[in-house]
Amino acid sequence: MLGVEHTVIGDVELEADGRGGWVVVVSVRATRRQGCRCPVCRARCPGYDRGEGPARWRGLDLGTTKVYLEARPGRVRCPVHGVITAWVPWARHDARFTLAFEDQVAWMTAHMSASTVGEVMRVSWRTVGVITARVVAQARGKVDRLTGLRRIGIDEKSYRKGHKYLMIVVDHATGRVVWAREGRNKQIVGEFFADLGQQRATALTHVSCDGATWIHDVVTEAAPKAVVCLDPFHVVAWATEAIDEVRRRIVRDLKAAGRTEDATALKGSRWAVLKNPERLTGAQRTTLASVKQTNGPLYRAYLIKEQLRAVFAVKGPRGRALLAGVISWASRSRIPEMVELSRTLRRFRDLIANTLDSGVTNALAEATNTHIQALITRARGYHTPEALIAMIELTRGGLCPDLPGRP
Ligand SMILES: [Zn+2]
Repeated sequence: MLGVEHTVIGDVELEADGRGGWVVVVSVRATRRQGCRCPVCRARCPGYDRGEGPARWRGLDLGTTKVYLEARPGRVRCPVHGVITAWVPWARHDARFTLAFEDQVAWMTAHMSASTVGEVMRVSWRTVGVITARVVAQARGKVDRLTGLRRIGIDEKSYRKGHKYLMIVVDHATGRVVWAREGRNKQIVGEFFADLGQQRATALTHVSCDGATWIHDVVTEAAPKAVVCLDPFHVVAWATEAIDEVRRRIVRDLKAAGRTEDATALKGSRWAVLKNPERLTGAQRTTLASVKQTNGPLYRAYLIKEQLRAVFAVKGPRGRALLAGVISWASRSRIPEMVELSRTLRRFRDLIANTLDSGVTNALAEATNTHIQALITRARGYHTPEALIAMIELTRGGLCPDLPGRP
């Protein structure tokens, strides 16, 4: 019922909580085999003293009643980690909750808002974050997520309104985040390849990234056998950004010409021209139709973006031919933003061709990217990059624990 292992259960008592309610207090100790271990390295160590007296760990509720485990762990002298309170089998190092309690909190955090988790589990919202980070940190040490990688995506994600960055590495085969760190520079990418090791880097066949050439440089050096390609969603994002600029410029011009009504109407067209057509609502379809009638350049820009999306749907030699068409269409469009886009596409033509030839399906990576973006958007809760990374790895890194008691 307590969800503990290697633990000897002693007295079980009901104790007044001082607020008119009761709590269950269970006296526990580690089994002889698991006692006298260092909490950091788990090595068996000589005992040092009897420790600092009784301590309590919150366990999973029994029905509606809070449960505490009480024990008096002594201190041990680890040859490496010094004099330290002995490991207890029911909790993580430095935690005041049981493993089962923390696993449940982390699992719930992956599936619902932190404030809901806090309410159900009767802990503060901040504690939810601390527990989640601890669970993820421990899980990280248990699995090697860098094994067997062949096709990966290296991505930089901005958060805090573009003031801060994370580098994220995704396995294209699974869509799983295998590595994440704060920052954005050559050194961070180098750290990934250092963690990966030379042998595993050589086994990489494809590395996709965005248009940051400094990432390409590091990849080419660290993984010489890998084909560098661009993630389609980045390339399409260039086009959607260009369209947004076209639309904003036209709105500005209309306002300057005193045509405020037309400007307002066009402002409302933002999503109609940015979203994929299959996702448009009925109203947005109507907007798009009116953009077509009243605003030639914006509609042409929209068609160029759609054609670019088609390039990645078609792939292979036909995709490459289509890409050439899109580039020349954009460059002759007489829309400055689209001409600029055509230059960018031309500059990265070889890398895009690699994408089209590679057969890398990056639907999973894109879904992961969208998920991370959503986390960042509602990331007000993550005060530190570590908390954000923990959340990413919990939900997309395969580090979410199982619910306790369900083997
Ligand atoms: Zn130790």
